[in-house]
Amino acid sequence: MEILEQIKKTVNATLPEKCQVTKVEMEGPEVAIYTKNPKAFFENENFVAKIAFELKKRVNIRTDKTLLSDPAEAKKKIMEIVPEDAQIKDIAFNTAFSEVVIESIKPGLVIGKGGETSKKIILETGWTPNITRAPTQESEILRGIRHHLNKYSDERKKILKETAKKIYSEIKTSPNDWVRLIALGGFRQVGRSCMLVETPHTKVMLDCGINIANDSPGEAFPYLDVLHFPLDELSAVVITHAHMDHSGFLPYLFKLGYRGPVYCTAPTRELMTLLQFDYIDVMAKEGREAPYSEKDVKEAVKYCIPRDYREVTDIAPDMKLTLHNAAHILGSASAHLHIGEGAHNLVYSGDFKNGFTRLFNNVDIKYPRLETLIIESTYGGRDAIQPNRQFSEDKLLRVIKETVQKDGNILIPVFAVGRAQEIILVLENFYRKGLLDTKCYIDGMTRQAGAIHTAYPEYLREGVQRRVLQNDSPFSAEIFETANGKNRAEVLEDKGAIIIASSGMLTGGPSLDYFYRMAENPANTIIFVGYQGEGSLGKKIQSGIKTLPITEKNGKTRAMNINIRTETIEGFSGHSDRNQLVNYISSLKPKPKRILVNHGEKNRSIEFAKYISSKFRINTASLRNLDAVRLR
Ligand SMILES: [Zn+2]
Repeated sequence: MEILEQIKKTVNATLPEKCQVTKVEMEGPEVAIYTKNPKAFFENENFVAKIAFELKKRVNIRTDKTLLSDPAEAKKKIMEIVPEDAQIKDIAFNTAFSEVVIESIKPGLVIGKGGETSKKIILETGWTPNITRAPTQESEILRGIRHHLNKYSDERKKILKETAKKIYSEIKTSPNDWVRLIALGGFRQVGRSCMLVETPHTKVMLDCGINIANDSPGEAFPYLDVLHFPLDELSAVVITHAHMDHSGFLPYLFKLGYRGPVYCTAPTRELMTLLQFDYIDVMAKEGREAPYSEKDVKEAVKYCIPRDYREVTDIAPDMKLTLHNAAHILGSASAHLHIGEGAHNLVYSGDFKNGFTRLFNNVDIKYPRLETLIIESTYGGRDAIQPNRQFSEDKLLRVIKETVQKDGNILIPVFAVGRAQEIILVLENFYRKGLLDTKCYIDGMTRQAGAIHTAYPEYLREGVQRRVLQNDSPFSAEIFETANGKNRAEVLEDKGAIIIASSGMLTGGPSLDYFYRMAENPANTIIFVGYQGEGSLGKKIQSGIKTLPITEKNGKTRAMNINIRTETIEGFSGHSDRNQLVNYISSLKPKPKRILVNHGEKNRSIEFAKYISSKFRINTASLRNLDAVRLR
């Protein structure tokens, strides 16, 4: 690996002898510099910045193994050094990385003013602190993942070294190098998003989803079987966000034997793991078998290389990846690929919201370069204009109040990640303003997902961020009661209760169970606030079906009447509506030269592509699954 030699040279040329560098290693796309004199780095803080600038890579300064003190002693010292206010929740030592992972409620206090406290930890214990934020609300899944990552740190170190070898292998690029895109799923449809970007040297998969709304054979999973190459030729997988239609099939790649890097944001890693586990669980409860097991999910976690927004990362000899804020769900990203020394630049929008949300900052619209844009079109249809937020919130409040007056209950089926938190913020705001005082239950995974939000406040809009940091998280406000474990019939006895439950399209999980219990009573209301996929029960109810065949406990089937009041309130969506999609394209900098439309129902995608091409005079197409397009 010639690059490593180059990096070593740069390190030696940039750092003075007193830094006592004993080893330089690649950890995937990052550089690890081991030193016998960490003090030298702190006396002149600029060294770290200087070397990172020279190398254009994330640089980790680690202490030489000989300096590592005994973990038990180190732990004692750390507890002495760090102020009690930091509320340390966990300390774990990770020899492979010379790292001590310190999880605390107030990580700022572990870092200290100007980094003083963390410096003291290195100097007095030899261990480099890796400081993480503890969720303010207990999260089993987050604890599980962090434990898993520590447990397998030796293996992860090996994985990162192997990954680095591939990223920095020598290739002979040519001016004639081509770039092509193969649509593997999620084109002219919503669900199973997946595509392959290929050059003569590199194959990168963008998203690997499952179609949750339609599980008939040939419809549920991406067309991986048309990839006529062994999976170890796949250079990397990029996951834009945690929803199952983008991440749900990833563990299957690992089941098939893929053992390569997965790039995504840290919250995407946690949330997709949560959703994949839940998927297996829900399938099992329905007596069906998921296409992969928990083992495959855990294997995928080991291979995740989390990236921050706007951090440029080498992912192959001829490809750099940068993730940008997509404002869709926690950690959601648009992916920018810089291919072949700038020969081609591609942005895959992923699911994005170009409009107000209570949760996130505005979607990123500035890119260094851009030739091809792949854009979602969930609400790309001519008729798909969403009302403004004030209107939607007023309507939500009115429908809830009308139902409460009739002693009915309100069911809001939501995607456990995304809409759930947005609706929780809206309801919490009603309660705080004294507009509502009815009971509100949260069932299913929504609570866990909320807890993960409290571990990553930096991904949230400032106001929410502040509240989480002040331990006043709206996701764990007192007004919300957890229904898990509580008998659902009991919940429904509370007349006038609001129930927020997943799944969002009534495809399974607690929302479906509540629906069956509530459907026959006209006093109840179901409120759809999110996208209902073609073929899902949610879509059928929304379209007004009047009866539903159900199987009773005694095995007899009967037609159940659907008398429940059905309301759809648009405007809470994490997707951009038609106007917002168009505004996104016109505000993008720079303008793309070609636009490819995906992630929308067939007619919407086609019509949207036509409209865009005539409005902007940009070459626009709505690809079909299995289409391949040469981009360069
Ligand atoms: Zn999504």
